[in-house]
Amino acid sequence: MGSAPYVIEGITHPEPDDGRAEERLLIPLVGQGILVGLLVADNPGSGNPVSPQRTRLLHSLAGLASVAIERARVDKLRGTLISSVSHELRAPLASIRAYNELVMGGDVGEVNDEQKLFLGRVERACDRLERLIQDLMNLSKLRTGDVSIKKAPADLANVIRGVLDTMHPKAANAGVTLNFHEEAKLPMTMTDQGRLEQVLTNLVDNAIKFNRAGGKVEILAERNEAGASVIHVRDNGTGVSKTDLPRVFERFFRADRSRSRDAGGSGLGLAIVKHLARAHGGSITVESEQMKGSTFTVELPDCESCQ
Ligand code: ADP
Repeated sequence: MGSAPYVIEGITHPEPDDGRAEERLLIPLVGQGILVGLLVADNPGSGNPVSPQRTRLLHSLAGLASVAIERARVDKLRGTLISSVSHELRAPLASIRAYNELVMGGDVGEVNDEQKLFLGRVERACDRLERLIQDLMNLSKLRTGDVSIKKAPADLANVIRGVLDTMHPKAANAGVTLNFHEEAKLPMTMTDQGRLEQVLTNLVDNAIKFNRAGGKVEILAERNEAGASVIHVRDNGTGVSKTDLPRVFERFFRADRSRSRDAGGSGLGLAIVKHLARAHGGSITVESEQMKGSTFTVELPDCESCQ
């Protein structure tokens, strides 16, 4: 059939002369040679056939719809593939880790210092792989909408303090100071606390990672005129170049590959953060200047609009 418009003529209706068209226009939606849908149009009001101009317009729309449907289909397939591969990788990884621990613990013979060093590297590689698998699974669930966001009233300032407490050892290790400024008393916000902690942990972790000894990370929390809670995570670290900035929320994107890889980064963190912010009905934006630092801003809607 191809994708050319096709007219069915001579449609009869139970009640003749009721103004319904006797012609129906069908446009096949074809993506990659496969029929993925059908656009059906008639003129029920006037009883006239669809005009040639409208047919041309509908044909163009059908072309766009085919592309969109095909993309969604490929995306879904990719998601399913990622999620099943991630599942399959977990068992052998657990086995590598378990045997590595056995050897490292001296259960199968004495281990010299050099061997310990190498086994330690295997362990760290396992940690990295596990984080990557976890991130892939999280992202694939978020993309398919399989993650449920369970919102409850939460005190944002407390959530932020909790995240900072957890991140303090890492910051201290890197010689970076962490500060929190609560610009105004924040209202209770409807949020999934665990997920919000995940968002903030990720942002603070990056702010420490892409920084230097003596650097600073500040969290500012405020309420905007629309009543939304706004959290800024600001650092004075490496920053991101103008060319890379629009891509930081893309999956697997890493502006500074070697630094990110050394720190165990997968390039999935910000993609997950963006999905989580959106799943809350909120948003995330970034401003950055190379060698000066970055500010990531999360906006969460007020209680009424987010329930
Ligand atoms: P990862 O940290 O695992 O590499 P992310 O998705 O969290 O992946 O971040 C993607 C990229 O964005 C990072 O590799 C880094 O290049 C850049 N980036 C993120 N946060 C910052 C930051 N605070 N300062 C500078 N660059 C950043």
